[in-house]
Amino acid sequence: MWRGVIHQYREFLPVTERTPVITLHEGNTPVIRADRLCDAPDTRIELFLKYEGVNPTGSFKDRGMTVAVSKALEEGATAVICASTGNTSASAAAYAARAGCRAIVVVPKGSVALGKLSQAIMHGAMLIQLEGNFDKALEIVKEASEKFPVALVNSINPFRIEGQKTAAFEVCDQLGGSPDFVFIPVGNAGNISAYWKGFREYREARQVSTLPRMIGWQAEGAAPLVLGRVVEHPETVASAIRIGNPASWRLALAAIEESQGEIGIVSDAEILNAYRQVAQLEGVYCEPASAAAVAGLIKYCRQGKIPHGARVVCILTGHGLKDPETALTLAPPLQAVEANLEAVVQAMGLG
Ligand SMILES: *Cc1c(COP(=O)(O)O)cnc(C)c1O
Repeated sequence: MWRGVIHQYREFLPVTERTPVITLHEGNTPVIRADRLCDAPDTRIELFLKYEGVNPTGSFKDRGMTVAVSKALEEGATAVICASTGNTSASAAAYAARAGCRAIVVVPKGSVALGKLSQAIMHGAMLIQLEGNFDKALEIVKEASEKFPVALVNSINPFRIEGQKTAAFEVCDQLGGSPDFVFIPVGNAGNISAYWKGFREYREARQVSTLPRMIGWQAEGAAPLVLGRVVEHPETVASAIRIGNPASWRLALAAIEESQGEIGIVSDAEILNAYRQVAQLEGVYCEPASAAAVAGLIKYCRQGKIPHGARVVCILTGHGLKDPETALTLAPPLQAVEANLEAVVQAMGLG
């Protein structure tokens, strides 16, 4: 039985026998071979989708949350707090429920996908909506955690990064070696930093002999790392990466530089196109933020920037069901037909 990332990768994690392990058996997500997405006549790449959307709460955040909440509990916390664009709050709420402690989640008003909101509510978190964006929410919870006895579980908590790096271990274990390229969306920039840490540690431990290039992607209206400056009013359809002042700025740039990687921009139109393509060509449903990495990948392939035969992993960070509203905006309004064969045949375009 798979018992979660702490059990699986214990020797790489800051836990002891005294750490109470709070787990929902996160991790062990599939790497799915994808042959149609970047099908170019002259270049064949070996593409895999790391489907993090099938973690227990539907995003990769669970990998970090199992470690962060376990350590908070070990240190005697009775409440955790986070700012969130949605998935961190869903994950914190679930793991706190499991640990029997309180979760306080602060989210920007009106910009969290409905699935994520419903999770925080169902798991019994205290939900505080802010008249402000994610960056402001993070500033506030940071200060609150310094002044009150609540453990901060955003990715500035190093235990989050520790847990999230297990995804890099898994990719290597599943592929039997390191990939050549990793495509990943970048918001608060914790995840790209965590992957890079994981790949480096796995090489130091001689589990793999090479390292991948980290290729990060930001949305056009929320691209502080690409622009080299804070974005005051970040805007993008991909709400999970709608962040203007990433907490792990320095770590992310180091990951890109050390891996000889790159960080690029994709537009909302490219994101929505990729969102549909990956669903319709590969049968894999991810959320818009994840599709930013897919959009980057499609762009890279078109530009012929990936060498023939390269092994590429694209990280699909969250599940498409988190945000059905965005999906439905892509289709014409749904209409019903009369309940008889003729009407259905006509609707099929065969009448
Ligand atoms: C949190 C999140 C991201 C961004 O990850 P960072 O560590 O903030 O860069 C991307 N996609 C999804 C679905 C997320 O939940």
